Amino acid sequence: MKYDLIVVGGGPGGLMAAKTAAEDGLKVVLVERKKNITEINRACLSVFYIHKVTASPEVEEGKSHADGYIEPVSVELLPDRCRFNFPGPGFSLDYEGSYVPYYHWVDMSPSGYLIHRHKPNDKIWALFYQKEVFLAGLLALAQKAGAEILPETIGMGAENTSDGVKVQVRGKSGEQTLEARTAIAADGISSAIVDSLGLNKDRKVMTPPIKILDYEMEGVEPNIPGFTMPWISVPSLNPYGNFGMGLKAEGRVSLFAMTSGTLAPSTALDNFMKHPTFAPWFRNARIVKKTAASAEPGLRTPIGEPVAGNVVIIGDAGAPVETWIQGAVACGYQAVKAIEKELNGQKGYPEYIDWWQKAFAFNDPHYWKVAGAFPLNYICTDEEIDYLYSLFQGRIGCYMGLIAKNLELIKKGRPELYQKLVKTLPPEAGS
Ligand SMILES: Cc1cc2nc3c(=O)[nH]c(=O)nc-3n(C[C@H](O)[C@H](O)[C@H](O)COP(=O)(O)OP(=O)(O)OC[C@H]3O[C@@H](n4cnc5c(N)ncnc54)[C@H](O)[C@@H]3O)c2cc1C
Repeated sequence: MKYDLIVVGGGPGGLMAAKTAAEDGLKVVLVERKKNITEINRACLSVFYIHKVTASPEVEEGKSHADGYIEPVSVELLPDRCRFNFPGPGFSLDYEGSYVPYYHWVDMSPSGYLIHRHKPNDKIWALFYQKEVFLAGLLALAQKAGAEILPETIGMGAENTSDGVKVQVRGKSGEQTLEARTAIAADGISSAIVDSLGLNKDRKVMTPPIKILDYEMEGVEPNIPGFTMPWISVPSLNPYGNFGMGLKAEGRVSLFAMTSGTLAPSTALDNFMKHPTFAPWFRNARIVKKTAASAEPGLRTPIGEPVAGNVVIIGDAGAPVETWIQGAVACGYQAVKAIEKELNGQKGYPEYIDWWQKAFAFNDPHYWKVAGAFPLNYICTDEEIDYLYSLFQGRIGCYMGLIAKNLELIKKGRPELYQKLVKTLPPEAGS
């Protein structure tokens, strides 16, 4: 065999896998459809989450893990770089680009009621960073360690063989078959590799097709103390999800929306910027860049056992919602360690499957019932969101967790809303 490992996809998960494998002495090739691998042309807020970010009461209460963290990741701010430490898997990554620490995240209602996810100024909750610099660091380390990188090459499908795997790829010079002892599918949410292995057949599509748009903007003046990342619920403008805002380089701001059906994300964003509560933020603002993303046919249930023969699935390729960048990186590392064990005749895949099932809240069926990604906007009016957020104004916690823990209070104040909350979860939130 020419290769020990073929990695399809050069996002954070695939690059981490290629780097780890090459550093450990495996013969590895990575194929990526983009010409410039580290260029970001899909919408991303570019936030490296240190705290768990999944909005779920179970996660809040420590009953369930999330985002690829079983043990929390920490960050060291050094004079010339920052270092992300992943104590669970046991590795660290240095990052040398610019960054801005966030100390908290706020959830916001249409009239501006605020709930703080974490105690303000407690400890670093997340870092805004330059994702392309982070990816370039991983790519450089992978190449330095000897990984072969094939840009402008599309992984079309994989097939298990008796002693390995064949991956069909299409590059500038045409199609060819790569052969290796193992492969990693790291080709993101619409993974061609996962599909070719038949792994989508048993996955339920939980949502309609999703469209995401991100505006990178200058001159935004968010009226929020300090700058925190606001997550804003305005069901009348977008019943499919919240508006999110994050800080970018040079004081730029990223504003994004996720919509579905006939609602274009551009319509939701444009109306948001005219909403009476938020319009003052955008008085002097202008859009400098637009990036988009989509999920067709919609978000699927997770792959419960992300190993098929000699192929290991990592990151968003096996996930229904984002694994986030840190989760994808952790997957890349864990998958390679599992592969190394298998190549040495030990049982590595059961450990990877066990870790995957524990490290991501989306594998917990209860998560879809209670938290989901966006049920509140489906079932509440703007006024009801204001009421709920006003009950918990200034409190610390995830809004879904606070609502779930205080249903009796809501029952007393607004019995009809209580009925909706306990009974009406959208079918898309899963069963
Ligand atoms: C709007 C939006 C904002 C987000 N913001 C954040 C954030 O701020 N922080 C955070 O942590 N996460 C964020 N995420 C999530 C994060 O981007 C993903 O969870 C993470 O990138 C997953 O990494 P991955 O390596 O699994 O897949 P991806 O990053 O999707 O990488 C897949 C790679 O495979 C390539 N590829 C795809 N198909 C093929 C093919 N057939 N052959 C070859 N190459 C292929 C793609 O070009 C891509 O480079 C955001 C996601 C969205 C949609």
